[in-house]
Amino acid sequence: MPSSPDYYELLGVSREADASEIKKAFRTLARQYHPDVTGGDAEATERFKAIGEAYAVLSDPAKRAEYDRYGRVADGDYMSNAVFDDDMFGDLGAIFQGLFGGAMGGFGGGQRSRPGGPQPGQSLMMEVSLTLEDVARGVEREVSYPRQTSCSSCFGTGAAEGSRRERCSSCNGQGQVHQTRRTLFGYTSMLTVCPTCQGEGEVVGTPCSSCRGKGRVQESVTETVKIPAGVDDGMRVRVRGGGDKGVHGGPDGDLVLQVSVQRHERFRRDGRDLLCEQTISFAQAALGDTMTVPGILEDQTLTVAAGTQTGKVLRIAGAGLPDPRDGSLRGDQFVQVRVVTPTKLSGEEKELLFRFARLRGEHPTEPEEKGFFNRIVDKLTGR
Ligand SMILES: [Zn+2]
Ligand SMILES: [Zn+2]
Repeated sequence: MPSSPDYYELLGVSREADASEIKKAFRTLARQYHPDVTGGDAEATERFKAIGEAYAVLSDPAKRAEYDRYGRVADGDYMSNAVFDDDMFGDLGAIFQGLFGGAMGGFGGGQRSRPGGPQPGQSLMMEVSLTLEDVARGVEREVSYPRQTSCSSCFGTGAAEGSRRERCSSCNGQGQVHQTRRTLFGYTSMLTVCPTCQGEGEVVGTPCSSCRGKGRVQESVTETVKIPAGVDDGMRVRVRGGGDKGVHGGPDGDLVLQVSVQRHERFRRDGRDLLCEQTISFAQAALGDTMTVPGILEDQTLTVAAGTQTGKVLRIAGAGLPDPRDGSLRGDQFVQVRVVTPTKLSGEEKELLFRFARLRGEHPTEPEEKGFFNRIVDKLTGR
């Protein structure tokens, strides 16, 4: 399994750095490498993503602990740079605006770079809903979605046959224009995307009819995505290159599936462990028993020791969920037993319980009505 990059080194912090130091380092670097600042330079964008990945791991205490312990948080299938925590979106909204925007809530591309230069495709995000059984088993899901791809009629140029792209006269091919705005502090000149060519620096003579000059069309794709066993609510599984296609040789965006796990009627979950309840009889609790109880995928054997009290939690080792990053690690199933007092007793059962009570020096009395009834019977039968 490949190990992850050194996240501490990426953020330039020590291994002992606290949460605020990590956040501060991340903010500084994210501003520095943000594609809006670097003009979409591919290397800087990769660096920006790596910084985001490092922050996603180190800002989450559980993930950080795992990373510290194992030196990684992901394997080939389950890519943890798909795991971004929501704090990043809320707190650093301004930084990520544009990059994380888009119709499907994608991230990792989409903003303009140099006119006519390579642009990364936008990453697309979808939610995938799983049952706890799906999580235990690991599943393949077929997902269908629309994505942007190069127009095959004009080979992505946007120009109709016989026509070609020409330099935009509004911005003189720069893709950007100066716009003067009145603000509180007077007039300010701002560089903005050229409205005529949308930053391309070029315009099309006669637009291609298939894509209306955009050079891009929407296509429907169906991908089969392998979701590793053990994923948890909110985790993200990334399919490299599954998103919008890059423009002018830019990298393709990714498809990101956000996992949502449905509630289970019997089991609750705590990381890799499963928790459930099991009722047992008074006799089973007192004498001990070995019984079959439902597990998440198959029945399990539960051994109740003699003298077990109600509320006791028993462990079935290895009957929990696998670890999504290392399938050889498995959680346990914890069973809380509840002793149920019998409500309907046959005559013989009652007799035995009375005997049991008397043996223990107890003097159980029958309910009042019954005693009264018995006295009448006694009278009637002349005893
Ligand atoms: Zn076209
Ligand atoms: Zn222009």
